[in-house]
Amino acid sequence: MKQSSGNMETAIIHSGYESQLHHDSLATPLYQTSTFSFATAEEGEQRFAGTCGGNIYSRLGNPTVRVLEERMAAIEFGGGALAFGSGMAAVSAILIHLTKAGDHVLCSRGIYGCTFGLLEMLEEKYAIGHNLVSMTTEEEIEKALRPETVCIYVETPINPTMEIVNLDAVIAVAKKHGLRVVVDNTFSSPYLQNPLKMGADFVLHSATKYLNGHGDVVGGVLVGQDAEEMQTIRFTVQKDIGAIMSPFDAWLLLRGMKTLHVRMDRHISNAKKVLEFLKQEPLVTKILYPHDENHPQFDIAKRQMRDGGGLISFEIEGGKKEAQTFMNALSMIKIAVSLGDPETLIQHPASMTHQIVPEANRQAMGISESLMRLSIGLEHTDDLIMDLAAAFEAVKPHLQEA
Ligand SMILES: *Cc1c(COP(=O)(O)O)cnc(C)c1O
Repeated sequence: MKQSSGNMETAIIHSGYESQLHHDSLATPLYQTSTFSFATAEEGEQRFAGTCGGNIYSRLGNPTVRVLEERMAAIEFGGGALAFGSGMAAVSAILIHLTKAGDHVLCSRGIYGCTFGLLEMLEEKYAIGHNLVSMTTEEEIEKALRPETVCIYVETPINPTMEIVNLDAVIAVAKKHGLRVVVDNTFSSPYLQNPLKMGADFVLHSATKYLNGHGDVVGGVLVGQDAEEMQTIRFTVQKDIGAIMSPFDAWLLLRGMKTLHVRMDRHISNAKKVLEFLKQEPLVTKILYPHDENHPQFDIAKRQMRDGGGLISFEIEGGKKEAQTFMNALSMIKIAVSLGDPETLIQHPASMTHQIVPEANRQAMGISESLMRLSIGLEHTDDLIMDLAAAFEAVKPHLQEA
């Protein structure tokens, strides 16, 4: 691989790919193959022994997927990366790699619903404990550690409340106690936040979201500080559980990722215009956006995130009925979970992504009945604001009745 300048905009287009090795094809070729043939029986033996390079079988590595992995390692400043069939496959791989029966995982106060589900299952089956705590200061984190704690697993900003985890504090405590740090960086994308550069051990992404950015792939990527450890994960958890990414999905991702920086800039500038609109709307009772100066952890967000991203959560007057009326009155904005697509999406966490969380826990997490999350797309902001304004008008008669 060529030396990279360290500029993400360049690395995301060029790193990990040498056209001379692929018949001078400008685009990365799609190696849609399950297996690879060996010139001789002896060569097959050597490839299996690892004494010569070369491909063996696509679950162990595929040239198209490898370009994606090298590119991800470059843009997240890691020693190596692995691509998976979904974000959850990447989450499962790292948690299984880092823990054994009896261990404990310390988590941020909010984590992705299926990550929580996986941890519950690991607890039930293998007595691997976990707890969820606020992580704004080192004291808070230190207090929550147990003798069995082996890693700190965080997501920041936290979905859907946009609460920020103080990564410097997490990493300082982890270093002091010899713990590993895993950061789910899906919401920020490598364009806005690079936890490995700050000292985290692993970063993972649901590549389904901003990385791919076109709403047509489900995928995941795990990036690690240490190249050798990543090879270990490749030849243990990834190979034997087998939740690999298909060559075609890697090909689509390589195409989608080339514009990550361009898309993110527009997601952000659109989000800021929508934010200004929401701020002057009288029915809005709360707005949550990491780089808004009213955000309770604005200072931390400013320090660890280059910008605020494309997600805005907000509450309106009333409750679930008003939120649903609001969403049903939208015409262009789509009602859907997921995020990071060209289309603006809205979802209602209390009845959708966080429906399984008991109401008391939801309230403690700050997920009220009228909270909605917008994933701001790439449409013209005049059209976005017009759609939102019409939805606010539709809610007004309901509030007057009540
Ligand atoms: C979507 C998402 C995941 C899970 O990724 P999949 O690709 O759907 O498996 C994990 N973490 C976060 C923060 C997500 O948004």
